[in-house]
This record gives sequence, structure tokens and C-alpha cells, in this order.
Amino acid sequence: MQLTTTRNKELKAKPDPQKLGFGTLFTDHMFNMDYHPDKGWHNPRIEPYTPFTMDPSTMVLHYGQGVFEGLKAYRTGDGHIQLFRPQANFKRMNYSCHKLCIPAFDEAMALDALKQLVHLEKEWVPNAPGTSLYIRPTIVATDPFLGVRASHTYRFFIILSPVGAYYPEGFNPIKILVTREFVRAVRGGLGDTKTLGNYAASLLAGEMAHKEGYTQVLWLDGVEQKYVEEVGSMNILFVIDGELVTPMLNGSILPGITRDSALALARRWEMPVSERKISIDEVYEAHRAGRLTEIFGSGTAAVISPVGTLKYEDQVITIGDGHAGPVAQKLFDAIMDIQYGKAEDPLGWVEPV
Ligand code: PMP
Repeated sequence: MQLTTTRNKELKAKPDPQKLGFGTLFTDHMFNMDYHPDKGWHNPRIEPYTPFTMDPSTMVLHYGQGVFEGLKAYRTGDGHIQLFRPQANFKRMNYSCHKLCIPAFDEAMALDALKQLVHLEKEWVPNAPGTSLYIRPTIVATDPFLGVRASHTYRFFIILSPVGAYYPEGFNPIKILVTREFVRAVRGGLGDTKTLGNYAASLLAGEMAHKEGYTQVLWLDGVEQKYVEEVGSMNILFVIDGELVTPMLNGSILPGITRDSALALARRWEMPVSERKISIDEVYEAHRAGRLTEIFGSGTAAVISPVGTLKYEDQVITIGDGHAGPVAQKLFDAIMDIQYGKAEDPLGWVEPV
């Protein structure tokens, strides 16, 4: 399949890298590709960034048959541009496609298209510390049809957005509310995919947490509401008795690429690591006994996000001293150093553009 490129004749002004937020600005070009049952995935193309025209009956608008990914391109100190484990994102995206009845795409072809797009937009990869170019690959169902079934046609697109540093003033440990009122996902459902509805399902709990002065929700399992699953839209990790503990992937948790990277590095450092069920009661007991030293989230946006306060029913606990703990800090530094090309890449995670 031949990728074609149509250049935008009207380029936008680049933003000030010191003033970037998240997800508000988009680059001059995007990638598009279509699926039709007779043609498969076809017509891959890079073209000017532009709004879509959609029939109001377009299936994704009604039944949420869509999947997406989130990854970043980083500018290294010597001006090169690199991606972090993009193969893992496209692999996870195809898994999401499988669960949403969307036809699989060629991962190698998608990666090649992404690299060409990022290369074309290289001036948009900011160079201020901690900034990056956020990449959003998405696939949506495009049949104009109101019956409930899998669509026959799809659009795959990739858009790019320059984003600011997550922690411009250093770590800021977050306050987390454990919810029993809401669940994010259930076993056998779509919790292990990046599909639209999962994020819609998380909004009300997030808003209620904000009203109580908390940053995000800690999700418990959807069956017994006993076991810890994720925190906001991040995976969650604990340090208990010096061991890095995280919920095992059970089908309702998103298999985070940052989570996997953190576990791989910790194992390399010969730190004890355990992926298992962990109940909220165990977390509180470990805290009471002085065995719980750190809690943190992991995800592409923040890399590592220390949790400073946890509220479960009426019990509020404080973890750490308002700073990142040593394990969170070490993982944060190690992952960032690989992403920005400041350190060796011992596990082959970096993909040059
Ligand atoms: N859980 C959820 C629900 C998420 O949306 C994300 C962000 N993709 C993560 C975990 C972390 O995944 P990753 O490390 O691949 O960004």
C-alpha cells in the first residue's frame, strides 16, 4: 500500500514551547486511512489537518464503536526525534479493535505512516524540558446506519498535538478518592481496551471526586468492589515492604505501557516485583502497619504520578511527605531519561523517527 502525502499550503504559527497545555493545539497535517469490506484498509494518506464531515447517522456517534491510543514523540538534547515503544501501542490498538469488532490493521504499516507524519511535522516537536508531541491514533465506525451491529466501514486517523511538561514545578502528589459507588469496567467487558465508552463511564465518578477536593478516583473491581484496579486513567503501583506491587492484568485493567516499562526496569534493578490481586483492605492494613511506603500511578501523560492522600469511606491516609518516594522518583527519572535520549536504552524501547 502506497502512502501518499499532500502538503498543507497554509502552515500555522508554532506555539511558544513554554506555554503549552494539553490537547488544545494540533499540527498542520494528519494521517487518514479507510476500511471497506471489498478493499480492506486502503488509501493511506498524509494530508492537511481538517474537520470531518459526517452523516448524523454515523455509527460511532451512536454506539461508540471506536478505539484510540496515546503516545508521544520526544526531542532529544541533540535535536533528534524519537518515539517510545510505539509498537506496543499499535499492538494494543489491534487488541482493542478485536474486542470492538473492528478489522485489524497492519501494525508495521501504521508505524511507518506515523514516522512519516511525525517527520513531516518535526518542527512541531517542542524542545523545552518535559514537553513532547502527543500522538492520538484513532479508529471509528463510519457506516451511516442506525441498526446495532458492527460497522462495515471505518476511518483510521492520527492527529498530533504539542503538549507541555506535566510537572513544570516538580512532582505534585495527588489526592485520590476510592469509589465504591461506581465501577469503571467489569470482567468480560472492555476495561482492557482503549475504547471510547470507558472514558465516558469514568466522568461522573471523576466529577464527584473533584467536588470533594480529590484529583481522581481509585477504581475497585466491578465484581466484589474489593480489589484495586486503576487510578483515574493510569495504572496503580504500591511499594509494600520494599516490593513493587501492582494489580495483575485480569481483563478489566488497561495493560499500560508505562506500567510494563516500570515493572521491566524494576526487575532489571533486581527489585522484588509482584503482579497480583491487592485488596483495598490490604492497602490500609499495610499503611497501618507502616509497611506501605509509596503509591503512584503510571501512564503516558505523567509517566509517574505519586499519590499523597487516599480516602476510602471515611478513612483518609497520607502516604509519603509531599514528595515523590524513592521508587517513584527512580522510575520517573529512568523512563524520562530513556524517552528524551539522556540514557542508554537497554531494553530497545526507543524508535527513532
Ligand atoms: N489506564 C487507563 C484507563 C488509561 O487510559 C491509560 C492511558 N493510556 C493507562 C492506564 C496507562 O497506559 P499507558 O501507560 O500505556 O499510557
